[in-house]
Amino acid sequence: MTEPLLRMSGVRAYYDGVEALHGIDITVDTGEVVVVLGANGAGKTTTLRSICQLTTTTGEIRFDGDLISGASTSSIVRRGIAMVPQGRGTLGDLSVEDNLLAGAVTRRDKGVAGDIASWYETFPRLAQRRHQTAGSLSGGEQQMLAIARALMLRPRLLLMDEPSLGLAPVIVRDLFDVLARINRERGVAIVLVEQNAVLALDIAQRGYVLEAGNLVLSASADQLRQDDAVRLAYLGN
Ligand code: ATP
Repeated sequence: MTEPLLRMSGVRAYYDGVEALHGIDITVDTGEVVVVLGANGAGKTTTLRSICQLTTTTGEIRFDGDLISGASTSSIVRRGIAMVPQGRGTLGDLSVEDNLLAGAVTRRDKGVAGDIASWYETFPRLAQRRHQTAGSLSGGEQQMLAIARALMLRPRLLLMDEPSLGLAPVIVRDLFDVLARINRERGVAIVLVEQNAVLALDIAQRGYVLEAGNLVLSASADQLRQDDAVRLAYLGN
């Protein structure tokens, strides 16, 4: 059996000594899209923060077989994990292009300009607005910029925290189309934390449901779509 790209085993997370995740097991295979569903406060953001070691954890987290729990966030990023936080985190006073350059600040190779050009092809709106400040972009464009900036790290795993938050439905559809394309064409695996379960399950192969810091369900996207409790709680039918 091949080792998954990411393996979380018995992971507990703490804020000021208070346990927020109570021992969760999650795997993500190379090139896979996995969705994490759950109500507010269920621990979805904490799961992503745990992977990057932005919160105190116990248990084991492995990336590509290597132990990353206990490692520094910067070394985890260098290994190929990039996170797009809730609220996007773009640098509002900097231009689109400078935001992309900032995303590549840890890279020492000569491929940065080529990568920017290639992401402009994927995100043509960003190319049109390359000299505008990030703060002047629409919400959807800022989300696209946040994704492109994270991709400048050439990650093998992209962690997305509620990318659809605050965006109009038509923009959200575009956003998910782009995520599906990035996954399909570039082979980037994605962990997607999302309230918009319908669209998330459309692009995911598998998913997990978190409740109050515990994993209560792990299933294929098809199974989750048909699960009565999931339908009631997250699919509105
Ligand atoms: P949401 O959809 O509201 O973002 P979530 O599923 O992402 O919810 P988390 O933000 O991971 O949930 O929160 C999980 C638990 O950890 C909650 O009980 C929350 O109150 C607690 N928590 C989250 N962040 C902190 C923090 N910085 N300090 C203390 N407790 C926190």
